[in-house]
Amino acid sequence: MTSAPVPPTTDGFSTRAIHAGQDPEATTGAVAVPIYQTSTFAQDVAGETRAGYDYSRAGNPTRTALEVALADLEGGRSGHAFASGMAAADAAVRAMLRPGDHLIIPNDAYGGTFRLIDKIGVPWGLTYTEVPLSDLDAVAAAMTDRTKLIWCETPTNPLLGISDIAGLAGLAHDRGARLVVDNTFATPYLQLPLALGADVVLHSTTKYIGGHSDVIGGALVTADAELGEDFAFHAKSMGGVAGPFDAWLTLRGLKTLAVRMDRHCDNADAVADMLSEHPKVGRVYFPGLSTHPGHHVAAGQMSRFGGMVSFTVRGGREEAVKVCSRTRLFTLAESLGGVESLIEHPGLMTHASVAGTGLEVPDDLIRLSVGIEDLDDLLADLTDALA
Ligand SMILES: *Cc1c(COP(=O)(O)O)cnc(C)c1O
Repeated sequence: MTSAPVPPTTDGFSTRAIHAGQDPEATTGAVAVPIYQTSTFAQDVAGETRAGYDYSRAGNPTRTALEVALADLEGGRSGHAFASGMAAADAAVRAMLRPGDHLIIPNDAYGGTFRLIDKIGVPWGLTYTEVPLSDLDAVAAAMTDRTKLIWCETPTNPLLGISDIAGLAGLAHDRGARLVVDNTFATPYLQLPLALGADVVLHSTTKYIGGHSDVIGGALVTADAELGEDFAFHAKSMGGVAGPFDAWLTLRGLKTLAVRMDRHCDNADAVADMLSEHPKVGRVYFPGLSTHPGHHVAAGQMSRFGGMVSFTVRGGREEAVKVCSRTRLFTLAESLGGVESLIEHPGLMTHASVAGTGLEVPDDLIRLSVGIEDLDDLLADLTDALA
């Protein structure tokens, strides 16, 4: 069912992030891809476009540059850039499923994904089962004749759970289903789901790919030509595409993804180590720790462990809320993946919408998006906030 990913060029990751789809512009030689801020494109003869573009909902050269670069970095055949991660998720659900179909979602799915499936997908006719995706037996047991999709996030948000992408792809394909991997937390720099057998990679490019907390965006990448056509058709028909300026900002962020991720990973490793030793901290959720139940699988499918660290504090919810408002550098805010460090209380913020469901998170949990500031400053900030 899956076609093999197109082999990337022999160029390294950063070379492709900076050059794939981004040749200097033909007429003027502009080195940065121009922001083609236009809705429509002149035709010389009715029905004959100059470069394949007729209307920017269907296609825009700035968006194309981003799509080509993302497809290249993920080892896919086609990329599709959307106005947000959720617009990408919506297009994936509608393109890959039909009313009556069943899908499997992680029992700690991103809150917005859960809401999309539960509040939009179910009234549309889908059924779903929440499963701890780290448990392949549980996934196999939850699959029915109607299961058409396994929706995977790894690492998950906010508990940093790890699931075995190759194992899930095998289960899906054995039963005629497909696997979508939300690769937002890992990025293609740390993990390549298509090479592990996934059919589709989804991104909230708002996060690490954009990387500067200044743009909302999403993307789908696939190596399957037919799925790629379906995604392009859904993007054009549903219209939730990335605008030219948003695509440009995202592309600018993408160029430095590797250097930023290296630093995010360095800082997160050190923050997780510090928290693990701290008397006020209960449990630390970070796949880089050898005590993490998914450490072994993560080490096998990721090159490093990413920049997200969650932990519980002694003293319950009240203390967790206090710690979140005591940091000076870690800004109390939703979102993640930007250069600046963020702190949040998932139970009251990003995951408030899953309270009372199977996806509820511990109320003494704090999630950090560890930024790329100087490590000593970050460690001091957290130490002070926990004191
Ligand atoms: C943020 C996020 C999304 C949704 O993306 P938006 O760009 O906010 O629409 C989906 N999945 C994960 C893992 C996310 O962190």
